[in-house]
Amino acid sequence: MNADESAYPLPPERKRQLVEWDRQHLWHPFTQHALWNRVEPLLIVAAEGPYLIDADGKRYLDGHSSLWCNIHGHRRPEIDAAIRDQLERVAHTTQLGLASPPAIELARRLVELTPQNLTKVFFSDDGSTAVEVAVKLAYGYWHHRGEPQRNIFIALKEAYHGDTIGSVSLGGIDLFHRVYGPLLFETKFAPSPYCYRCPLKTSPETCGLACAEEVGRLLEAHGRQVAAVVVEPLVQAAGGMITAPPGHLARIRRLCDEHGVLLIADEVATGFGRTGRMLAVEHERVAPDLLCLSKGLTGGYLPLAATLATEAIYEAFLGPIDSGRTFYHGHTFTGNPLGCAAALASLDIFEKDRTLETLQPKIERLAEHLTRLARHPHVGDVRQWGFIAGIEIVRDKATGEPYPYGRQVGAQICANARPHGVIIRPLADTLVVFPPLIISIEMLDHMLETIERCIDEVVSGPAHAASDGLE
Ligand code: PMP
Repeated sequence: MNADESAYPLPPERKRQLVEWDRQHLWHPFTQHALWNRVEPLLIVAAEGPYLIDADGKRYLDGHSSLWCNIHGHRRPEIDAAIRDQLERVAHTTQLGLASPPAIELARRLVELTPQNLTKVFFSDDGSTAVEVAVKLAYGYWHHRGEPQRNIFIALKEAYHGDTIGSVSLGGIDLFHRVYGPLLFETKFAPSPYCYRCPLKTSPETCGLACAEEVGRLLEAHGRQVAAVVVEPLVQAAGGMITAPPGHLARIRRLCDEHGVLLIADEVATGFGRTGRMLAVEHERVAPDLLCLSKGLTGGYLPLAATLATEAIYEAFLGPIDSGRTFYHGHTFTGNPLGCAAALASLDIFEKDRTLETLQPKIERLAEHLTRLARHPHVGDVRQWGFIAGIEIVRDKATGEPYPYGRQVGAQICANARPHGVIIRPLADTLVVFPPLIISIEMLDHMLETIERCIDEVVSGPAHAASDGLE
């Protein structure tokens, strides 16, 4: 950007140039570029609180929290100041062989706010690396304890744990993951707790958590070969904001205990207040052996992740230097001081603003909107856990028949929301409600009313050209 250029509005020539370069050079994630290049990309040049601001100065509610990470709004003065303050000292210094105050302090804060059994913090860069670290710690733990045959993981269908090969190995979304099958390590999949389209064809009232019991069956069948069970607690996010029935998580924890297997909780999406509590595992008093955090960790400001582990896991890696037990893993920007400073400031805001307390009425208001939306003739299912919701659009409400994938109904509805000043992104035909926690009730009303209006526009109107990709 030119030094004398204000953020917006951008001069038309500059905007045109950027769009052209975007088309020429950028490969956007989760995006079918055969479609992307047909529409004018929305250039976000600034932001303020819960709003994103485009090159023309138009404001949009950041309805997906910039992909599920922004917590306290954009340009939050306390977080901005913490980053600037850290910049006055040092932007980056390695954790390999050196220590730095922000990472030390953040590790301590994370240990304090997570279940008591988690005492060690390993920092990395993003959700995928947090999961990679958990996978390697779980396998390394068994290896060092003399059980190297425990090299299978159990995950759930429709799970999403990231895009690196290790985390893709745990992924259960065929559309994203099937292509890479030959590259992946062995994972056994239990059914998703997707009650609306129950893979076991039962119902939550009578099933006795049959899908969780399938985890038990896999543990019985593969027992001493399993390193860990991996779950997204309460909400399978990228799978379509699939909300697990109460007791599902606790049952899986119990099964892991009965079979002496580790539990990895991937709270990359659900952590930091999204479910109404700081962590999703708190709802069912579950203490995982490994816990993955990212996205909201820095308030959604900077790439940073943490994998928390128990003392027992940590101890398995202790030994003389020639024991081969050292955890030989670490990324260049692990524990980056700017990210840690942002995270500390974000945690301070949670306390100062009583963010979780002020969130509760918004969760209730969201529930009211969803109750209304559930009656819509093209809404098949509404799902909510705290401040996360999914609205599944269907062609036929009576049978649950979806629209053909190629029609991209979810993407069209989200595209229609933009002129109304709302940015949302679907997961296939499930509309995702995932706003920053600081959004006001009025903004939430506007967001949900816009969604309703756009559903009407799209499902009762002619098919439009699809906008963009999936997740
Ligand atoms: N785990 C979960 C539960 C996620 O939702 C995501 C991202 N959507 C990831 C892991 C991967 O995180 P990242 O995109 O930061 O690598």
